[in-house]
Parts: sequence; C-alpha cells; structure tokens
Amino acid sequence: MKANYRRCISCRKIGFKQEFWRIVRVFPSGQLQLDEGMGRSAYICPKSSCLSAAQKKNRLGRSLHTSVPETVYQQLWQRLAQTEEEQSSPLA
Ligand SMILES: [Zn+2]
Repeated sequence: MKANYRRCISCRKIGFKQEFWRIVRVFPSGQLQLDEGMGRSAYICPKSSCLSAAQKKNRLGRSLHTSVPETVYQQLWQRLAQTEEEQSSPLA
C-alpha cells in the first residue's frame, strides 16, 4: 500500500488520504484530535454510515487503542452536517 492511501476504519474502503477524516491520538499526551498532530491515526470516510458504524461498534476506539470521548464523535457529526450543507448549496 502506497503512503498516500488510507483505509476507512468502518467500511474498509481504500482511498487517497485526502478523502478521509483523520483522527489522531496525539503523542505523548494521548489526547484525541482531528486532522493534525503526530501519533496513532485512524481514518474514516466523511459519511454518516461510516461514522455511526464507528461509533456503535467502537471501531475508532479499537483502532486507536483508547477510549473515545463523546465529544470527538460530536465534532465529527457536526463536521458532517457542515459538509452536507456545503454540498447541497448551489454555489458549491
Ligand atoms: Zn467508510
């Protein structure tokens, strides 16, 4: 697998890194954050199906070897809502 390819933790689709959201368990603090930071990372499609599967089955937690606070999922859902708004805009 080339460096620019990543796999979704929910549907296991492989795609370019830019197609996914990145969730990072930052080293050494262990804090979870989105997009940026050094540490163990998980990738997920910006889709409600993948997000809800990751949440229900704790895929994110398993992939990152940590417990995922509710706030992280809230951020992702919020971001998803924003993305869909942008996509449905006629100016997009
Ligand atoms: Zn996916």
